[in-house]
Amino acid sequence: MAVLRKGQLAGYVGVLGACFVVATAAGWTSFAERIDNYAYDLVFRLNPPKNPPTHAIVLAVDEATFAKHGGVRRLRGIVGDALNAVAAGHPRVVALDVILSDEQAGSDDAGILSGLTKVKTVLNCELIPGGWEDPLPQFARLQAAVGHVHPDVRSGDGVSRKIPLEMTSPTVRRWALSLETFRLYQNAARIIESPDDLQVGDVVIPAKRADGRLLRIRYSPAGMPMISVNDLLRDPKLAARFENKAVFLGVTAIGAHDTMVSPLGDFLEGVMIHANAFETMADGNFLVSAGDLSVMAICLAWWLAAGLTFWLRSGWPAYALAAVWVLAAHALPVIFFRNNIVLPYFAPAAVAWLSIAGAASYQYFVVRRQLGRSETEKARYQEAIHFVTHEMRTPLTAIQGSSELMGRYNLNEDKRKQIAQMINSESKRLARMIQTFLDVERLSDGQMDLKQEPFAVQEIIDSCVERVRPLAERKQIVLHDAEAVSAEFRGDRELMEYAFYNLLTNAVKYSPANTETFVAWKRDGDAIRLSVTDQGIGMDAKELRNIFRKFYRTKRAEASGEAGTGIGLSIVEQIVTTHGGRMEVTSQPGKGSCFTMVIPVRWIIENPTPPISQSDALHFPKEVKN
Ligand code: ADP
Repeated sequence: MAVLRKGQLAGYVGVLGACFVVATAAGWTSFAERIDNYAYDLVFRLNPPKNPPTHAIVLAVDEATFAKHGGVRRLRGIVGDALNAVAAGHPRVVALDVILSDEQAGSDDAGILSGLTKVKTVLNCELIPGGWEDPLPQFARLQAAVGHVHPDVRSGDGVSRKIPLEMTSPTVRRWALSLETFRLYQNAARIIESPDDLQVGDVVIPAKRADGRLLRIRYSPAGMPMISVNDLLRDPKLAARFENKAVFLGVTAIGAHDTMVSPLGDFLEGVMIHANAFETMADGNFLVSAGDLSVMAICLAWWLAAGLTFWLRSGWPAYALAAVWVLAAHALPVIFFRNNIVLPYFAPAAVAWLSIAGAASYQYFVVRRQLGRSETEKARYQEAIHFVTHEMRTPLTAIQGSSELMGRYNLNEDKRKQIAQMINSESKRLARMIQTFLDVERLSDGQMDLKQEPFAVQEIIDSCVERVRPLAERKQIVLHDAEAVSAEFRGDRELMEYAFYNLLTNAVKYSPANTETFVAWKRDGDAIRLSVTDQGIGMDAKELRNIFRKFYRTKRAEASGEAGTGIGLSIVEQIVTTHGGRMEVTSQPGKGSCFTMVIPVRWIIENPTPPISQSDALHFPKEVKN
């Protein structure tokens, strides 16, 4: 059973829709990206790759190497020595992360040149404003391949999570150093590309072209195996450690220009990042980003879960379920990560939180308002019951007294007849009162089918005017009847009579003595506008807005001393609308009111427009419409 009513669905969906839009829009902001990255690093640390690196090894030009072998100025000489030394160990491929693009006067290039002839080597290149900055021709001639060494340019926080496997100058495309190294390691002639992935030998690397072919690097907490060039040169036997491996040769000494941090929190030089990217490919266990559509579907699922929960449940079961959704929204990225899918953290969690907050608040305030309303309705209802019992008491007392009179005294025939007639009419009045009350209650519960019979509009007017005339005369109010009307209502005669009678008695009830009340009608297409106009106490705009509410009475009406329940007009409106019509009211405090029933009819005489009716003659300076 829904906690909220059907009529509240639009508001509820509106509030939830706004929550969804705000949460998903927030998911596009740079703040959300920072949170997503932070969450990624956390989940990464909790779920490190299982295999330690076995394919790659770093040959590091570290501080000790510089200290012992002539410092930074002798870098090319050192690299040449290292290349020759490592070649003796028969590595499968060497990736050289050292810039060889500029002529350096007096530099010792002979070592590198001879090293390059001994081992398959990938050299590096960098994208500069004019294009690719490649190794000098003497080196390039001997290279096995060339690859770029750029990190993910979009990572603004210095953490190296991804690497672009492809980069393009205006004219020339280059693969990453790690990817070219992997190709040679796999002994593959070329890299086969499709829009969604790259294939090297039999390894398929998921890297969408549309996303810039980004590869998520899986750093092992075991760390990358590393040997210092200094140690290798001191102990050439160490070269055996490089056998059949991919060797990444680069600078790790403090001051290396390309340092970043891994999601594990370790400082990494460029050569380390390339080695780890290579190892990720060699291990073949890839992390892929969830597609936009899947992310949207997950957001929608949390949104629906929140919406349905507070639509169908309330109180602690709803809050308990909501807590489950929130926990699930936070756990899902971890579960996905374990299955190698990276799900953004912020947008789905924000949708879950915001939708739950929106749905819960909506429910809380609406239910509270409902409770308040039903409490005032209950109080008014009790008042009404008191009044009805009081009203019933009048005919009952009359019946009781008269029957006692008849029993106790010997009355003459005339008197007896008169009393019997009075008992008869009073009991009929009582029965009518009860019937109307019950009918209307059943009508508002939707339990009663409306009678569908044709009856003349004139009959209703005549019978009501007849019944009200004595009341009007008693208050010296002149009651002007309408012109004859030739039209038929279709519906429930008794209810319609009740409605019109109510308008007439109100006009008399809420008018002072020596005023006039007009009944008038007018054709309005297929409908009739049947109106009652008085010169009574009237109402202001605020009161007008409320008079059709059950049990509402204006202060003016209370002060007039006239008894009432405030229920009549709510019933009138219900009767009129169930007959396919509507109510219109204009009024001015102290000047009078005009109540009009606009109801579809069947006209018997075509075009029976009556002369200007008296009610039209009565003019309110400012019209207030309900
Ligand atoms: P009741 O007359 O029993 O109080 P109704 O539902 O018929 O209940 O009317 C609701 C309220 O609308 C009245 O209490 C009164 O304040 C106001 N009202 C109705 N008809 C008139 C009228 N003709 N002139 C002024 N006020 C009216």
